[in-house]
Amino acid sequence: MRRKLVVGNWKMNGSKTKNKSLLEDVVAGVRDLHNADYVVCVPYPYLGQAQSLLQGTNVAWGAQNLCATEDGALTGAVSPDMLVDYGCTHVIIGHSERRIQFHETDDTAATRFNVALKAGLTPIFCMGESREERESDWTEYVVGRQLDSIIRRFGADFLAKAVLAYEPLWAVGTGKPATPEQAQEVHSFIRGRIARCNAEVAENVRILYGGSVQPANASALFAMPDIDGGLVGRCSLDAKAFVDICKAACQHPMTA
Ligand code: PEP
Repeated sequence: MRRKLVVGNWKMNGSKTKNKSLLEDVVAGVRDLHNADYVVCVPYPYLGQAQSLLQGTNVAWGAQNLCATEDGALTGAVSPDMLVDYGCTHVIIGHSERRIQFHETDDTAATRFNVALKAGLTPIFCMGESREERESDWTEYVVGRQLDSIIRRFGADFLAKAVLAYEPLWAVGTGKPATPEQAQEVHSFIRGRIARCNAEVAENVRILYGGSVQPANASALFAMPDIDGGLVGRCSLDAKAFVDICKAACQHPMTA
């Protein structure tokens, strides 16, 4: 049985003042929602603020990236242990915005995935195809290649302590989500590919859908058998919208 998980990805948004009221409203909104798990991934400078406002609540916090090296001469980088020091439990790895705008590759994403696990963090590993790739019928090739970057290097067992996220690029930040059926088809493909290597891991790993999740579409997405929750960008910046998405997750508390 897989419990639903809703993760907010704030991206490069926020200010100390806005974050305070957003986090307080989210905490108040999900306090009595016991049937799912909640995480917010905030920009690095706000990890301390997230820690002080979220500790002792049922909302966990995490980062949106990390550096694969422990410490040393790497100007501007943030190590896994620094995230742990700030109480992070999760870290997003391989988001499409980082793959495209910061030239991250399957290989570097896989390296960071491994380092996150070693530090005791749960990596939220993002995969997804572009519009052109979908239109050329390459979705399974692209998503399979991204997934295999972990499986080939580390084995499917490594996915047991991770969360996966299918985030089609054409749906992220566009306001045009995948239909529940489109998303389910790819989630089922991902789970099936893992099952070829390790059926138990495939059965238990949570696969989130990300790409314009909103209160209006969350329930239909979360009702799908292989969709175990959402990775939410824009709507995670609005407490009411985020809480409504968390409520939708609680309507379909368990998958499988
Ligand atoms: C994301 O950033 O991971 C995301 C899914 O964004 P949005 O919900 O805005 O599409």
